[in-house]
Parts: sequence; structure tokens; C-alpha cells
Amino acid sequence: MEGAAGERGPSKIFQAIAQGDVVLLKALLAEGPHIANSLDENKMTPLQHAAYKGSREMVQVLLDQGADVKLCEHQHNYTALHFGALSGSADVCLLLLEAGAKSNETNTVGRSPAQMAAFVGHHNCVALINNYVPKGDVQVYTNGGQGGAPLLPPFLLESFHKFVMQINIHPIKVVMNVHSFVGLQEHLAEVKKVLDLMSEREMKRGQESNEVMSFKLYYLGYIVGEIGKVKVRQAAHREQEEKRPIDITEAFARKLLKPGKEDSLEYMDGFLKECIREFPFRESTLFRQMVATLSGDDAPAALFVISACINGQRGFLDAVAHCNTCGEEKPTKKCSKCKVVQYCDRNCQRLHWTWHKKSCSRLGQQEGAAPARDIDLKELQTFINQPN
Ligand SMILES: [Zn+2]
Ligand SMILES: [Zn+2]
Repeated sequence: MEGAAGERGPSKIFQAIAQGDVVLLKALLAEGPHIANSLDENKMTPLQHAAYKGSREMVQVLLDQGADVKLCEHQHNYTALHFGALSGSADVCLLLLEAGAKSNETNTVGRSPAQMAAFVGHHNCVALINNYVPKGDVQVYTNGGQGGAPLLPPFLLESFHKFVMQINIHPIKVVMNVHSFVGLQEHLAEVKKVLDLMSEREMKRGQESNEVMSFKLYYLGYIVGEIGKVKVRQAAHREQEEKRPIDITEAFARKLLKPGKEDSLEYMDGFLKECIREFPFRESTLFRQMVATLSGDDAPAALFVISACINGQRGFLDAVAHCNTCGEEKPTKKCSKCKVVQYCDRNCQRLHWTWHKKSCSRLGQQEGAAPARDIDLKELQTFINQPN
């Protein structure tokens, strides 16, 4: 009797997953944990099925019960992460990556999980997978793994890890994150040094090299370096004039969002082009591609090129609404006067106001927007004048 139940166990588990029956799944795994790593007739594992269904809960249950994220007997060599990427669930992809799934495994047609996700239009999964960094890769710098004092203070582990995985790489967002993630602002030089080391490591992994990640880490380091310079200049300035210190995020926003001809972001574009030009790995395919794209006639903005390189082609497409200050998608607020520009919140509006106030009424007329009754410019002004 027991043998018969054992034989039925495996097929039952696949049924439970197909039906999304988490209770039954848990009961079956409690009865025979070994079935977590069983195979169906197509040599697919329960984890692969749960991932393909995009079920965060079932994937978690299976991983808790010892499902092996690397087990892959599938005839076309699709890993659990390939299936997770196809499901469109970024949560599932994150769980699998945290459990040790490799993002560079390819299936029999040579596609990685992120490439499969891009193929079916799941850009959230592409961005998540491409920006994922195992915590261990960061930990070596916070625990002094190679002997000697760590390059980063251990308490920075969480915030630094979150910082390197950020998906929105708009320079203002990066600066905002340096400002809001605990401890980064006080350790700019160390953070930049580690980012540069990590960038180099990604480039020199031989078969496992990851040019995109290498560029991203370098890019973050470049911005952190710039923040450091602004800070130094500010300190010098303060000594001379004893001025009230300005908020670094505000100083950056003022510089980078300054509009040029026809409201284009000339300064930011120049800044980002300079950043690309200084990428130290000039022999990489990625570098040559970016430079070629930027030197063509009708070249796109450097921000678009960088974003497309890191997060796939979707980066900051006009079709997707984004915050005028930090590039975050689907902002919830609009300037109440012109009803044209959009922001995440009042802080983003505040950072853009220096420049936007010059074009606000013109934009409102262009769009033929009805004058808003609830103009909250006064409220904004009060907010701006508030001490932080
Ligand atoms: Zn924003
Ligand atoms: Zn406006």
C-alpha cells in the first residue's frame, strides 16, 4: 500500500500545482519531502511547474521543502528561472535567484532567462534578473572576506546591496537613493571604490563575464564620485561664505534637469555621455555598441542608451508615463497648473520646480488644458520654503 501511495505521490504533486492547491501541495510534501525533486513525464520538476504558473507561494513552499533550484533535466534545458521569467512574475524570479538560480544558463536555443522574458514582453522580469546581484558578492566587501579590514563598514550591507540592484538608473533617482539609503552618503569614497572593484570583477570573469552588470556598477560609481565632488566643493564654498549648506539632491537636480534648447536635457545628456566615454573597458562589445549608437545621426539621448543597455529596449519610452524628475514609472501626481508634467510626489515636483516654473504656463496653453481651479502653487511655495 505504501509503495503504491509513494508512486502516486509524484503525479499528485503535479496535479496539486496545476490546480494551484497550496494546501494539498504542503500535505504531499509533508508526507514525502523527496517528491519536491521528482520529475514528470517531460522531466520537469515541481519547482519548474510552480515557477511557470507564476505562483510565488508555491515556489516558496517548494524551496522551503528542499526543492533544488538548479535541478534541470528538461529536454530543452529550461531551468526553473526560465519558467519563472516566462510567467512574468518578478517575485518568483527573485525567490529563485535568492535560492541560487543562475541567470546566465541558456536553453537549447541559446537563450538566457532574461532573454526569454524579453521575448514575451515581461520587462519587469528582464529588469529584475539583469539587475540582480547575489548578496554574497557584496558581503565580501563588508566582512573583510579576503582578510584585513573590510572596504565597507558591515552595517552598509543591506543598503549597499539594495543600491547596486536598483532598477531605475535615472541619475536623479541614483542621487536620491544615495541620500535615502542608510549610511551611503557618509561613505561615498568607499562606496565608489567598491563599485569600481565590482565592475572590474564582472568584466574579468572569463566565461561568466557580464558586461552589462560591469557597466551598471561603473555607472553607479561614476555618479557616486560626482556626488563626492559636489560635497567637497560645497564644503569649500561654505568655508568662504558661510552659506547655508544646500541639499545635494537639490544641487544635482538643479544641474542635471536644466533645460536647453526646446526643453531638451542638454546638460544631463552631456554628463551621461562623458560617463560613457570614461568607461574603462573600451574593448568591450557593450562600450563599442553604445558609442556607435551615440555617434550616429539622430542619436537617442544618452539616458535612453544607458537605460536600454541595462534594462532592455523599453527604457524611458515616451509611451510609458514617467516622473519628470527621477524617471520612475507611473507617477501618481501631476502639476496642478499645466496638467502636463508628472511626478512621484511633492519632493520630485519641488526638485524640478526651479526649471519647470519657467515653462509651466506655456505647456498648459500648448496642451489646451483648462485652467485648474485648485492651483496649489502657493502650497508648493510653502513646501519649498520649509526647512528640511
Ligand atoms: Zn520622481
Ligand atoms: Zn506645470
